Amino acid sequence: MTKTQPNKTQEKHLKKSPALARAIIISVFLLCIAAGLLLFFLHREEKNTYSYSPETKILLYHLVRDETYGDYEYLFVKEADFENQLREIQRMGYQTVFADGLSELEQGEKAIVLTFDDGYSDCYETVFPLLKKYGMKATFFISTALLGQENHLTKEQILEMQASGLCRFGSHTVNHIRLDEALTDEAERELEESKKELEALIGEKVTSLAYPNGAYNDLVELLAEKCGYLYCYTTNPPTEPYYENTALPRSYVVRDMTAEEFSAILES
Ligand SMILES: [Zn+2]
Repeated sequence: MTKTQPNKTQEKHLKKSPALARAIIISVFLLCIAAGLLLFFLHREEKNTYSYSPETKILLYHLVRDETYGDYEYLFVKEADFENQLREIQRMGYQTVFADGLSELEQGEKAIVLTFDDGYSDCYETVFPLLKKYGMKATFFISTALLGQENHLTKEQILEMQASGLCRFGSHTVNHIRLDEALTDEAERELEESKKELEALIGEKVTSLAYPNGAYNDLVELLAEKCGYLYCYTTNPPTEPYYENTALPRSYVVRDMTAEEFSAILES
């Protein structure tokens, strides 16, 4: 058979094909980009990443008590200073939100997250009455093995605080261990068991966590996410405009902090 020349219709098709192929390739390419973007945003939404914004000030306290004990005097904020700090928060027009409420904030909305680590008994004796006086919310991170121990909150106190609607509780592991130095199994157990015990006590989901000693690494972040924590707090001060929810920054409030230094955190 000899090779023949294309007829009129074939010629038309031949001319069209490169353009058609190009159009198909471009369409597929654009579809891939659109699908990729969609997946990216869906994943971001699902992971709840970047709910932190610079308008949110997250404060880290331990104790509010005039008399000190133990080696860490700087952790004991004086009662009058604490009350003045709450007044300053009020004066500057900040609302207080719980540690697991960041994603409910509108973009640019001013908010303060008051957090207390370790669950000391003065959280009930000193902090709770002042929260009621000023109608402010706070989150307390509890190491469940310390519940009911000397100078620590009891289960009954936690339930009373929870019932007020002004206090919420998050995990600070079971034994207050450094998660970055623990074996994977142990770290996972500490994260899981403290969450379960707190949830059984208060009858609500526990989705916030404060890393003991602020110590974490990539693996710890993954484990925390796997265990169902949506908001994980470090002890790093904020220096960037945005943070992943697995490494949220906090500003330390300590005994010797002046009123000006405290106001500077709120104004930053
Ligand atoms: Zn701690």
